[in-house]
Amino acid sequence: MTKEKEVTTRGEFVLRLERGADVLPAIVDFCARRGIMSGALRAIGAVESAKVGYYDLGAKKYEWVEYPEAMEVVSMTGNIAMVDSAPFIHAHVVLSDTKNNCIGGHLFSARVAVTLEIHLSAFNEPISRTLDNEIGLKLLDV
Ligand code: ZN
Repeated sequence: MTKEKEVTTRGEFVLRLERGADVLPAIVDFCARRGIMSGALRAIGAVESAKVGYYDLGAKKYEWVEYPEAMEVVSMTGNIAMVDSAPFIHAHVVLSDTKNNCIGGHLFSARVAVTLEIHLSAFNEPISRTLDNEIGLKLLDV
C-alpha cells in the first residue's frame, strides 16, 4: 500500500556550491542552518571523486564504485528528511564522462569539480526516516 503525506512549500532556494565543496555535507549544512526538515532538490553541474552505487537487497548493504575524474552532473535529484533529528539527503545522480557516456545510481559522496547549481524546495511539514527491518534501510515515514 502506498504511504503518503501532503506537504506545502515553505520556500524555494537556489544554491551554488563552489569548486572543492563536499556535496552532501554542504547541503546538510545549509538545511541545518535554515531549519529545513524536509524537501526536494535537483541539481546540475560537475563533480569529481564521486562514489555512486546501489542497494543490494539480498545482502542488505550498499555496493559502490568510485569515479575519481571530473564528470558532468547530467541530473541529480533527491529528497531531504530527518534522521536522528538532523537533516539527511537521499540523492541519486546520472553522471557523464568525456565521451558523454553516463553512469548513475545512489550518491554516497562527491566533490564539486566546477560548480553545482541546486534548486531546493523546502517543505513546511517535517518528514523523518525510520528503519524498516525487512528492507534494512531507513525509509520515509509518510
Ligand atoms: Zn538511493
